[in-house]
Formats: sequence, C-alpha cells, structure tokens
Amino acid sequence: MALGVRPGAHMVAGIKLSDRENTAVIVDFAGNLIADLAMPHQPGAMELADLLNLTAELVDRVCQKAGIERSNLSAIGLGVPGFVDAAAGIAHWSPILAGRHIPLAQALSARICLPVHIDNDANLVTLAELWFGAGRRLSDFAVVTIEHGVGMGFVLNHRIYRGAQGLGMELGHTKVQLDGALCRCGQRGCLEAYVADYALAREATTALNWTNRENRSLNILLESLYDHAKAGNQAARSIFHRAGRFLALGLANVVNLFDPELIILSGERMRYDYLYANETLAEIKALALNTGRPAPKIEIHAWGDLLWAHGAAALALSAVTEGLLAPAREIAAQ
Ligand SMILES: [Zn+2]
Repeated sequence: MALGVRPGAHMVAGIKLSDRENTAVIVDFAGNLIADLAMPHQPGAMELADLLNLTAELVDRVCQKAGIERSNLSAIGLGVPGFVDAAAGIAHWSPILAGRHIPLAQALSARICLPVHIDNDANLVTLAELWFGAGRRLSDFAVVTIEHGVGMGFVLNHRIYRGAQGLGMELGHTKVQLDGALCRCGQRGCLEAYVADYALAREATTALNWTNRENRSLNILLESLYDHAKAGNQAARSIFHRAGRFLALGLANVVNLFDPELIILSGERMRYDYLYANETLAEIKALALNTGRPAPKIEIHAWGDLLWAHGAAALALSAVTEGLLAPAREIAAQ
C-alpha cells in the first residue's frame, strides 16, 4: 500500500551551527521549505550555556519568519561539526563547543522544551542527499566532505551507517602514511593531515616562505595559495597536486572497501578545482582494484549552508516518522 504524507501534519526545524555561520530552516512533513535564516558567527568554542542560548534564538527567529510559534514544531534537528554520537545525543568533541562528552541533545531539549536530535556535519549532508538529493535513487553511496577536516557519511542499503558506537566512517583519520604528518586528532599520517584546509595552509607557509603571513586567517592564506596556483606558481600547484593524490588514495580505499554506486564530493572548497582535477580522478581509478567492473561515479556538489540545515531537518523528520510508525509496528507485531 502506498502511503501519502500530509505536508502540514508536522513542521520541524533544522539548525546548523559552525564556526563561521549559523543557519536554520523550517520544513513541513513533505520536506518543503517554509522559512530559512542565516546569521554570521565568530570562530571559537562556546560554553554550553551560550550555545543553548544561541540555538534557542535561532529557533525563535526562524519561527518568527515562518509565522509560527516554537510549540508548533514537532522536533528539532541540530548539526554540529566534530565527533557526535547521534543515538545517545552526545557531542564527544566539537570545535564550536567547550568541553567533551556533552549530552547536547538532552540539554537543548530541556532548554527549548522540544525533542532534539543531533548529528555531525558529514552525516547531515549525507541525509540531505538521501532525502532531497542525488541519493534518493541509490541504495549505497558515500558523501565525502572536505573543509576544515575530511568527513564522510555512508549510506548502506538506504540507511546511514554509523558504526556500533556512532563514531564510524571517520575517513579523515584513516592513515595514509606511517609516522606521517601530525593531524588535529593528535595522531600521525591521517588523510586529513594532507588534504584539509589547515594542511594546505601549513604546506603553503613552508613551501612559499610565507613567514610574514602567519597572522593571516586560514581563508586568506588559502585564497592566496589558489591565486598563486592559478597564476602558474609551480610550488603552489604542487601543493594541490600532492593533496589531490592523497585524496585519491583515500577515495580508492573507500571504493575497495565498500563498492559504492556513487561518491559525492561535497564542500565549500570546491572552487579549489586543483584538488578535483582529472588527474585525481585518474589516480582513483589507478588505485582502485581492477575487477573489470565500471568505476563508481564521482560527482562534485558545492555545499551550501542551507543544505546542511536541510539535513538537520531531515534528521528531525526521520525521528518524527519513526515515532509515528513505531506504535503501528508494535500493534502489527502483536
Ligand atoms: Zn587524525
């Protein structure tokens, strides 16, 4: 039996917090966008109380834009970068939150009197692709996000795979070099330590003798590196080329492990097209096992902030749907 949804039956909010911009959307039960909002944000870790106040303000302001009350919402989905246990609602570590192992979902739920579900950025971008994007037609695909770090969300048999403790699929911290470059996580040789924006900036600082530029922001350093590469600077080009080879190595390992139908590369760094050049794609092909099968498709999707917030809304929608279906399943099982 095919079931239809009544779009107006429920509304949820999706909130994305990051160290540059916070965004919020309200969608109806069919996923239609009702209202959206973006607010700039200063980098740095917040205390929990400040983060809760900020999130409550975002929720109230986007509700105001939608012309509804907070109590009209059925649930909130909240996305934060970092290590998040979605099932337990715990933020183990996030660059925007001071402290570790914070029961964030519970704390926000108590603050705003609504059910709250949390997850990390890569999973939410993956959920957005699964519910609203290219993933609607696919059972097995990967979304790799490249920005401050390297993240991955993976859909296996139409569902996000999270691992036994919700911390799986940390592609950025798989090792691509023994005793290699130091990573933000404290270990050495992680893929992220060769591909993420801080890694590119580190290489640029040494290779281009940018000793006087240490005080510049990461974004300005990267823009400058990109401009140098485009203008034909060989040192700048070789930084992107090397990072692209490491990325190819990481993606070829994903292909060999999971055999996905599609890999979506997603992130704001898409304009650094050197990372995603034809050489990178050729290198993936060369490193993936030659089994005679067609290589998985690789698509590049620029990642808008609203996409992430949409994923947070999809998280809330799936929780509301699950809540509605669970009693029916129990009755059916009796
Ligand atoms: Zn690492």
